[in-house]
Amino acid sequence: MRITVLSGGVGGARFLLGLRAICSPDDHVTVIGNTADDITLAGLRVCPDLDTVMYTLGDGIDAERGWGRRDESWHAMAELAEYDDPSAWFALGDRDLATHLVRTRLLAAGVPLSEVTRRLCARWRLGVDLLPMTDDPVESHVVIDAPDDGSGAAAPGQPEGEPGRRTVHFQEYWVRLQAPKAYLVTAVGADRARPAPGVLAAIADADVLLLPPSNPVVSIGTILAVPGIRTAIQRSRAAVVGVAPIISGAPVRGMADRLLPTIGVEVSAGAVGAHYGARSAGGILDGWLVDDADRSDLAPLRALGLRAAAMPLLMTDPASTAAIATAAIELARSAGAAAP
Ligand code: GDP
Ligand code: CA
Repeated sequence: MRITVLSGGVGGARFLLGLRAICSPDDHVTVIGNTADDITLAGLRVCPDLDTVMYTLGDGIDAERGWGRRDESWHAMAELAEYDDPSAWFALGDRDLATHLVRTRLLAAGVPLSEVTRRLCARWRLGVDLLPMTDDPVESHVVIDAPDDGSGAAAPGQPEGEPGRRTVHFQEYWVRLQAPKAYLVTAVGADRARPAPGVLAAIADADVLLLPPSNPVVSIGTILAVPGIRTAIQRSRAAVVGVAPIISGAPVRGMADRLLPTIGVEVSAGAVGAHYGARSAGGILDGWLVDDADRSDLAPLRALGLRAAAMPLLMTDPASTAAIATAAIELARSAGAAAP
């Protein structure tokens, strides 16, 4: 079976661990990773979601934090802070820095991000192919309230003619500012981005396409914003099944509830499924898994033309995560069998 997964960081990577555990050696998994979290810090190109997938599947992750390297130390970051370096707010661990150094050197030599990622992943033996969604630069930017300094002058990043608001990189919004009220999220550069080599083929040739419980706005939403990817999903012969990242009206980890309102989507498993929509009605899904707590969403989802099922969706341990992956594949099989 050829399985293709669109993935953000922690939610996607945890799901992928469960998926890999249930795959047979004949199965082939391709991961299309979000790159709109990418940021240049202290001169280094950092790809948080690609690295989370790489370290998680490569067994180099700090499992408790969910990101970054295990047995990490933070000396370089402390030294950056002593220099008042403007990047010191982002946690760059000493082990992790080596990844960004290698990546930055290769990118500066003109090697595309997809090839850089392939070379980095060779060390970690993921058991899956990890492709960035695009080799072109895309960055999620978030419009938030500007702190009022009383001067009446535009704050840094404040768009002309939008008093009281400013725009920050998604990482600054999320990590440094801890997700204040957001007005707008834009995937800057997405409209000009081209899918990385292999991305469209991995979608077209898949037997099963999976959306793990990744952030609908800044992980899945940005991948879908790369021209060509949404259409490829709609046309793929694969059955497409997604897993709800929202349980009982709240994100399981993180602050996804802060961003859903920017795209007019209610914070519920059913609303996110409806946002993606059924392929039979111009959307991208055939099936949607919700948590047992959200069973009341099943009937409205089915009314939209989706196959919907409920089960425990907390990825608390390898067994429960593998069970979610198994259910997603089964739902895809039943959707595929029903297709004309
Ligand atoms: P990020 O890039 O690190 O933010 O990771 P993703 O975008 O891949 O995933 C973030 C989403 O994963 C959040 O919206 C969480 O609600 C969701 N998530 C995290 N853990 C779980 C879990 O155990 N079960 C489910 N269903 N969703 C989860
Ligand atoms: Ca992310």
